[in-house]
Amino acid sequence: MKLNYQCPICGTPLGYEGLCWKCKSEQDRQSVMNWTAEQIKEKQELLISNIQRLANMEDPEFTIFWQLLSYQNAITPEIQSKALTAEIYYPCEIYYHAPENVRDGLIAALQKTDDSQEANNLMCCLAMQGDDKAMETLLELEKNPRDWRANLYVDPSIYAQCGGWTFNKEGHRIQLNFNTCYPMVKGTLNEVSPVKIGRVREDTCPHCGGHMVDILVLDGRDERLKFLGLDGILTATCCPNCVGFLKGPAFNSFTLDGDVEVFPSELFDGEEKMDCYVRPEDYKALADNLFVLGKMSVPLFYGAASEDVNTIGGFANWVQDWEYTTCPHCGKPMKYLAQIQWDTLFDGTEGTLYIEFCPDCKIVSMQHQQT
Ligand SMILES: [Zn+2]
Ligand SMILES: [Zn+2]
Ligand SMILES: [Zn+2]
Repeated sequence: MKLNYQCPICGTPLGYEGLCWKCKSEQDRQSVMNWTAEQIKEKQELLISNIQRLANMEDPEFTIFWQLLSYQNAITPEIQSKALTAEIYYPCEIYYHAPENVRDGLIAALQKTDDSQEANNLMCCLAMQGDDKAMETLLELEKNPRDWRANLYVDPSIYAQCGGWTFNKEGHRIQLNFNTCYPMVKGTLNEVSPVKIGRVREDTCPHCGGHMVDILVLDGRDERLKFLGLDGILTATCCPNCVGFLKGPAFNSFTLDGDVEVFPSELFDGEEKMDCYVRPEDYKALADNLFVLGKMSVPLFYGAASEDVNTIGGFANWVQDWEYTTCPHCGKPMKYLAQIQWDTLFDGTEGTLYIEFCPDCKIVSMQHQQT
């Protein structure tokens, strides 16, 4: 394809006239964030009257649902009860923090079903509802599995993780994500930010010889980041070329004054060496990116439905299934910290990097997913 055109906003060469997909997505998001109270009400009413179309993933309802949830945090108890009445159990995010009567309806449906697919969906819905009774229900099903459990891959405590929490055998609840979300936004050259994406390091990767990169450097002492409970700097370091080809996640430990120790890693195919596809201009693009921490927090699902936003906290947009890493030191599930979309940093890349950490052991994990 001949690239005869340019995106009028960012200058990316294009084979057609108009905005590039990232600028278009950003423009659409801004327009939803600017909806008036009347516009929001109108969309909510449309969703309520056509709730069945949501279950069938039909537009405009499906898109409107994600817009209301991700950019306006405006899924009401009325929408939730309407969905329950229509027996719609997908997408499970409908039921995030739904009221008790809706929760009880979900529990009743789960107790009644003998269909493993429906049980699968209902456990995700309860995970999203997420209160103590939802936990008791999942705990009971973990201790006393029903027949449908044989057709599912994982236990109810793993389903709970899709709501950003889990529980142990004693019924003790463990929170896995943060109740605050900040976006990374394009700043100006040399703008100071407590979160920096992509600091290219001098040391090189043992597999490919390319530069290691501090893919995220975050100063938890900034007022906006107090919710993380980090009294210093967290650094996440990986090889951008190899992180998607490792056996399991990449790990490093960090100290609050900014030091890092990268843990040894193995390539998934058992090979020692890997070609490096990251070019000098890519490292430069990575180092020169303008992302800074946004001034204002955004809804928790802000990053959950887009392929072009980098976020700190809240919910991730898992390309495959949600997956919380077990801390290699203490064995507890790690906390979800951030997602970075590779192609917001340099061209020709795909997939998302999910960054988690163990606050007790000061260990970071990074895992890559793509379609
Ligand atoms: Zn553009
Ligand atoms: Zn490498
Ligand atoms: Zn740990």
